[in-house]
Amino acid sequence: MRFSNKVVIVTGGASGIGLAAARRFHAEGAAVVIADVQDELGQRAAAQLGEGRCVYRHTDVASWDDVQAMVATAEAEFGGLDILFNNAGVGCFAATPDLTPEEWRRVMAIDLDGVFYGCKAALPAMRKRGGGAIVNTASISGMAADFSFAAYNAAKAGVINYTRAVAIDHAHERIRANAVCPGPVDTPIIAGINEMQGVRQVWDKAVPMGRFARAEEIAAVVLFLASDDASYMTGAIVPVDGGVTAHTGQPD
Ligand code: NAD
Repeated sequence: MRFSNKVVIVTGGASGIGLAAARRFHAEGAAVVIADVQDELGQRAAAQLGEGRCVYRHTDVASWDDVQAMVATAEAEFGGLDILFNNAGVGCFAATPDLTPEEWRRVMAIDLDGVFYGCKAALPAMRKRGGGAIVNTASISGMAADFSFAAYNAAKAGVINYTRAVAIDHAHERIRANAVCPGPVDTPIIAGINEMQGVRQVWDKAVPMGRFARAEEIAAVVLFLASDDASYMTGAIVPVDGGVTAHTGQPD
Protein backbone atom coordinates (compact mmCIF):
# COMPACT_ATOMS: atom_id res chain seq x y z
CA MET A 1 0.00 0.00 0.00
CA ARG A 2 2.68 2.49 -1.08
CA PHE A 3 0.08 5.02 -2.22
CA SER A 4 -2.35 5.21 0.72
CA ASN A 5 -3.65 8.79 0.98
CA LYS A 6 -2.10 9.69 -2.38
CA VAL A 7 -4.01 11.20 -5.28
CA VAL A 8 -2.84 10.18 -8.74
CA ILE A 9 -3.74 11.29 -12.27
CA VAL A 10 -3.06 8.91 -15.15
CA THR A 11 -3.38 10.35 -18.65
CA GLY A 12 -4.10 7.80 -21.34
CA GLY A 13 -5.47 5.73 -18.46
CA ALA A 14 -8.26 4.03 -20.40
CA SER A 15 -5.99 1.56 -22.19
CA GLY A 16 -2.63 -0.20 -22.26
CA ILE A 17 0.17 1.01 -19.98
CA GLY A 18 -1.98 3.76 -18.43
CA LEU A 19 -4.77 1.35 -17.53
CA ALA A 20 -2.30 -1.12 -16.01
CA ALA A 21 -0.77 1.71 -13.96
CA ALA A 22 -4.18 3.05 -12.86
CA ARG A 23 -5.18 -0.43 -11.66
CA ARG A 24 -1.94 -0.91 -9.74
CA PHE A 25 -1.98 2.60 -8.17
CA HIS A 26 -5.53 1.86 -7.05
CA ALA A 27 -4.59 -1.59 -5.71
CA GLU A 28 -1.81 0.04 -3.69
CA GLY A 29 -4.17 2.50 -2.01
CA ALA A 30 -4.31 5.59 -4.27
CA ALA A 31 -7.32 7.62 -5.34
CA VAL A 32 -7.06 7.77 -9.13
CA VAL A 33 -8.26 10.13 -11.85
CA ILE A 34 -8.25 8.41 -15.23
CA ALA A 35 -7.91 11.01 -18.00
CA ASP A 36 -8.41 10.01 -21.61
CA VAL A 37 -10.41 10.68 -24.77
CA GLN A 38 -11.85 7.14 -24.97
CA ASP A 39 -14.84 7.85 -22.74
CA GLU A 40 -16.49 4.44 -22.80
CA LEU A 41 -13.29 2.57 -21.92
CA GLY A 42 -12.31 5.16 -19.31
CA GLN A 43 -15.71 5.14 -17.61
CA ARG A 44 -15.72 1.34 -17.55
CA ALA A 45 -12.24 1.25 -15.99
CA ALA A 46 -13.22 3.80 -13.33
CA ALA A 47 -16.41 1.89 -12.52
CA GLN A 48 -14.42 -1.34 -12.12
CA LEU A 49 -12.01 0.32 -9.71
CA GLY A 50 -14.88 1.60 -7.62
CA GLU A 51 -16.81 4.73 -6.78
CA GLY A 52 -15.14 7.09 -4.37
CA ARG A 53 -11.61 5.91 -5.21
CA CYS A 54 -11.50 6.41 -8.97
CA VAL A 55 -13.11 8.85 -11.39
CA TYR A 56 -12.91 9.21 -15.13
CA ARG A 57 -12.42 12.67 -16.62
CA HIS A 58 -12.61 13.27 -20.38
CA THR A 59 -9.32 15.03 -21.19
CA ASP A 60 -7.68 15.78 -24.48
CA VAL A 61 -4.10 16.33 -23.33
CA ALA A 62 -3.51 18.56 -26.36
CA SER A 63 -5.99 21.06 -24.84
CA TRP A 64 -4.67 23.35 -22.11
CA ASP A 65 -8.24 23.96 -20.89
CA ASP A 66 -8.90 20.20 -20.60
CA VAL A 67 -5.66 19.58 -18.72
CA GLN A 68 -6.36 22.37 -16.24
CA ALA A 69 -9.82 20.90 -15.68
CA MET A 70 -8.23 17.46 -15.16
CA VAL A 71 -6.11 18.75 -12.29
CA ALA A 72 -9.10 20.66 -10.89
CA THR A 73 -11.03 17.37 -10.89
CA ALA A 74 -8.35 15.68 -8.75
CA GLU A 75 -8.48 18.58 -6.29
CA ALA A 76 -12.29 18.73 -6.20
CA GLU A 77 -12.86 14.96 -5.93
CA PHE A 78 -9.94 13.90 -3.75
CA GLY A 79 -8.60 17.10 -2.14
CA GLY A 80 -5.29 17.52 -3.98
CA LEU A 81 -2.72 15.97 -6.29
CA ASP A 82 0.44 14.02 -5.39
CA ILE A 83 1.37 12.08 -8.52
CA LEU A 84 0.96 12.71 -12.24
CA PHE A 85 1.60 9.96 -14.77
CA ASN A 86 1.82 11.80 -18.11
CA ASN A 87 1.32 8.82 -20.37
CA ALA A 88 -1.15 9.60 -23.19
CA GLY A 89 0.45 9.23 -26.58
CA VAL A 90 -0.01 8.48 -30.25
CA GLY A 91 2.32 7.28 -33.00
CA CYS A 92 2.54 8.06 -36.69
CA PHE A 93 4.31 5.85 -39.23
CA ALA A 94 5.92 8.16 -41.81
CA ALA A 95 9.32 9.40 -42.90
CA THR A 96 9.67 13.13 -43.50
CA PRO A 97 8.60 13.32 -47.18
CA ASP A 98 5.30 11.57 -46.40
CA LEU A 99 4.66 13.27 -43.08
CA THR A 100 2.12 16.06 -43.42
CA PRO A 101 2.41 19.21 -41.32
CA GLU A 102 -0.93 18.26 -39.76
CA GLU A 103 0.34 14.80 -38.71
CA TRP A 104 3.54 16.33 -37.30
CA ARG A 105 1.53 18.87 -35.30
CA ARG A 106 -0.88 16.21 -33.99
CA VAL A 107 1.97 14.04 -32.68
CA MET A 108 3.69 17.06 -31.11
CA ALA A 109 0.41 18.33 -29.63
CA ILE A 110 -0.42 15.05 -27.89
CA ASP A 111 2.99 13.53 -27.14
CA LEU A 112 4.96 16.67 -26.22
CA ASP A 113 2.60 19.62 -25.59
CA GLY A 114 0.42 17.26 -23.55
CA VAL A 115 3.31 16.44 -21.22
CA PHE A 116 4.14 20.15 -20.82
CA TYR A 117 0.48 21.02 -20.12
CA GLY A 118 0.28 18.21 -17.57
CA CYS A 119 3.36 19.39 -15.69
CA LYS A 120 2.34 23.06 -15.89
CA ALA A 121 -1.10 22.34 -14.44
CA ALA A 122 0.12 19.86 -11.82
CA LEU A 123 3.04 21.82 -10.34
CA PRO A 124 0.95 24.40 -8.43
CA ALA A 125 -1.24 21.59 -7.05
CA MET A 126 1.84 19.63 -5.93
CA ARG A 127 3.35 22.72 -4.31
CA LYS A 128 0.23 22.99 -2.16
CA ARG A 129 0.93 19.42 -0.93
CA GLY A 130 4.59 20.20 -0.20
CA GLY A 131 5.91 17.91 -2.96
CA GLY A 132 4.99 15.37 -5.57
CA ALA A 133 6.13 12.99 -8.26
CA ILE A 134 5.78 13.18 -12.03
CA VAL A 135 6.45 10.25 -14.32
CA ASN A 136 6.43 10.90 -18.07
CA THR A 137 6.12 8.16 -20.66
CA ALA A 138 8.84 8.73 -23.23
CA SER A 139 10.06 5.76 -25.29
CA ILE A 140 13.20 4.08 -26.53
CA SER A 141 12.10 5.94 -29.70
CA GLY A 142 13.15 9.13 -27.92
CA MET A 143 16.64 7.73 -27.21
CA ALA A 144 17.41 6.71 -30.80
CA ALA A 145 15.48 6.76 -34.08
CA ASP A 146 13.24 4.21 -35.81
CA PHE A 147 12.71 3.91 -39.55
CA SER A 148 9.68 5.99 -40.68
CA PHE A 149 8.74 7.28 -37.23
CA ALA A 150 10.17 10.80 -37.47
CA ALA A 151 7.54 12.84 -35.63
CA TYR A 152 7.29 10.34 -32.79
CA ASN A 153 11.10 10.19 -32.49
CA ALA A 154 11.24 13.99 -32.20
CA ALA A 155 8.38 14.26 -29.72
CA LYS A 156 9.66 11.51 -27.40
CA ALA A 157 13.19 12.95 -27.44
CA GLY A 158 11.56 16.21 -26.37
CA VAL A 159 9.80 14.43 -23.51
CA ILE A 160 13.14 13.08 -22.29
CA ASN A 161 14.93 16.43 -22.08
CA TYR A 162 11.84 18.26 -20.85
CA THR A 163 11.66 15.73 -18.00
CA ARG A 164 15.21 16.66 -17.02
CA ALA A 165 14.30 20.36 -17.11
CA VAL A 166 11.32 19.85 -14.81
CA ALA A 167 13.43 17.69 -12.50
CA ILE A 168 16.12 20.29 -11.92
CA ASP A 169 13.77 23.29 -11.81
CA HIS A 170 11.61 21.74 -9.08
CA ALA A 171 13.95 19.51 -7.08
CA HIS A 172 14.12 22.16 -4.33
CA GLU A 173 10.32 21.96 -3.99
CA ARG A 174 10.41 18.20 -3.33
CA ILE A 175 8.80 17.57 -6.71
CA ARG A 176 10.53 14.76 -8.61
CA ALA A 177 10.23 14.11 -12.35
CA ASN A 178 11.42 10.98 -14.13
CA ALA A 179 10.70 9.31 -17.46
CA VAL A 180 10.20 5.71 -18.49
CA CYS A 181 11.30 4.61 -21.93
CA PRO A 182 9.38 1.47 -22.85
CA GLY A 183 10.53 -0.78 -25.65
CA PRO A 184 7.80 -2.61 -27.56
CA VAL A 185 4.78 -3.32 -25.36
CA ASP A 186 1.71 -5.38 -26.23
CA THR A 187 -0.96 -2.66 -26.26
CA PRO A 188 -3.47 -1.37 -28.84
CA ILE A 189 -0.98 1.30 -30.05
CA ILE A 190 1.12 -1.38 -31.79
CA ALA A 191 -1.83 -3.49 -33.01
CA GLY A 192 -0.80 -2.77 -36.62
CA ILE A 193 2.43 -4.71 -36.14
CA ASN A 194 0.56 -7.82 -35.02
CA GLU A 195 -1.71 -7.64 -38.06
CA MET A 196 1.16 -7.65 -40.59
CA GLN A 197 2.11 -11.21 -41.59
CA GLY A 198 5.48 -12.23 -40.13
CA VAL A 199 6.34 -8.75 -38.85
CA ARG A 200 5.70 -9.54 -35.20
CA GLN A 201 8.20 -12.43 -35.27
CA VAL A 202 10.90 -10.12 -36.67
CA TRP A 203 10.20 -7.57 -33.94
CA ASP A 204 10.22 -10.18 -31.19
CA LYS A 205 13.63 -11.32 -32.42
CA ALA A 206 14.97 -7.75 -32.32
CA VAL A 207 14.43 -7.71 -28.55
CA PRO A 208 17.25 -9.48 -26.67
CA MET A 209 14.66 -10.92 -24.26
CA GLY A 210 12.80 -12.25 -27.32
CA ARG A 211 9.38 -10.83 -26.56
CA PHE A 212 7.34 -7.65 -26.12
CA ALA A 213 6.63 -6.33 -22.63
CA ARG A 214 3.28 -6.68 -20.93
CA ALA A 215 1.76 -3.33 -19.93
CA GLU A 216 2.01 -4.41 -16.27
CA GLU A 217 5.80 -4.69 -16.59
CA ILE A 218 6.03 -1.00 -17.54
CA ALA A 219 3.48 -0.01 -14.89
CA ALA A 220 5.61 -1.69 -12.19
CA VAL A 221 8.53 0.62 -12.98
CA VAL A 222 6.25 3.66 -13.18
CA LEU A 223 4.93 2.91 -9.70
CA PHE A 224 8.46 2.50 -8.37
CA LEU A 225 9.45 5.92 -9.78
CA ALA A 226 6.30 7.51 -8.36
CA SER A 227 6.82 5.97 -4.92
CA ASP A 228 8.99 6.92 -1.96
CA ASP A 229 11.19 3.94 -2.86
CA ALA A 230 12.60 6.29 -5.54
CA SER A 231 12.89 9.25 -3.15
CA TYR A 232 16.40 10.20 -4.36
CA MET A 233 15.65 9.77 -8.07
CA THR A 234 14.85 12.74 -10.21
CA GLY A 235 15.67 13.51 -13.83
CA ALA A 236 16.25 9.80 -14.51
CA ILE A 237 15.48 8.36 -17.92
CA VAL A 238 14.74 4.69 -17.38
CA PRO A 239 14.60 2.22 -20.29
CA VAL A 240 12.24 -0.71 -19.73
CA ASP A 241 12.96 -2.49 -22.96
CA GLY A 242 14.03 -6.12 -22.61
CA GLY A 243 17.57 -5.10 -23.54
CA VAL A 244 16.86 -3.27 -26.83
CA THR A 245 18.96 -0.17 -26.02
CA ALA A 246 21.78 -2.32 -24.63
CA HIS A 247 22.33 -3.79 -28.10
CA THR A 248 24.67 -2.26 -30.72
CA GLY A 249 22.37 -3.47 -33.48
CA GLN A 250 24.90 -5.93 -34.88
CA PRO A 251 23.20 -9.17 -35.92
CA ASP A 252 24.12 -12.39 -34.08
P1 NAD B 1 -2.60 2.67 -25.88
O1 NAD B 1 -3.05 3.07 -27.22
O2 NAD B 1 -3.15 1.43 -25.27
O3 NAD B 1 -2.79 3.84 -24.84
C1 NAD B 1 -2.67 5.21 -25.19
C2 NAD B 1 -3.82 5.94 -24.54
O4 NAD B 1 -3.64 7.34 -24.80
C3 NAD B 1 -5.18 5.53 -25.14
O5 NAD B 1 -6.09 5.21 -24.11
C4 NAD B 1 -5.61 6.77 -25.90
O6 NAD B 1 -7.00 6.95 -25.96
C5 NAD B 1 -4.91 7.87 -25.09
N1 NAD B 1 -4.82 9.11 -25.85
C6 NAD B 1 -4.47 9.27 -27.16
N2 NAD B 1 -4.57 10.57 -27.50
C7 NAD B 1 -4.99 11.23 -26.40
C8 NAD B 1 -5.29 12.59 -26.11
N3 NAD B 1 -5.19 13.54 -27.06
N4 NAD B 1 -5.68 12.92 -24.87
C9 NAD B 1 -5.80 11.96 -23.91
N5 NAD B 1 -5.55 10.66 -24.11
C10 NAD B 1 -5.16 10.31 -25.35
O7 NAD B 1 -1.00 2.54 -26.00
P2 NAD B 1 0.14 2.39 -24.87
O8 NAD B 1 1.17 1.54 -25.47
O9 NAD B 1 -0.43 2.05 -23.55
O10 NAD B 1 0.69 3.89 -24.86
C11 NAD B 1 0.95 4.60 -23.67
C12 NAD B 1 2.21 5.42 -23.84
O11 NAD B 1 3.31 4.53 -24.00
C13 NAD B 1 2.23 6.33 -25.07
O12 NAD B 1 2.79 7.57 -24.70
C14 NAD B 1 3.13 5.61 -26.02
O13 NAD B 1 3.76 6.48 -26.94
C15 NAD B 1 4.11 4.99 -25.07
N6 NAD B 1 4.89 3.86 -25.58
C16 NAD B 1 4.29 2.73 -26.02
C17 NAD B 1 5.06 1.69 -26.51
C18 NAD B 1 4.44 0.42 -27.04
O14 NAD B 1 5.14 -0.35 -27.70
N7 NAD B 1 3.18 0.13 -26.76
C19 NAD B 1 6.46 1.82 -26.53
C20 NAD B 1 7.04 2.97 -26.04
C21 NAD B 1 6.25 4.00 -25.58
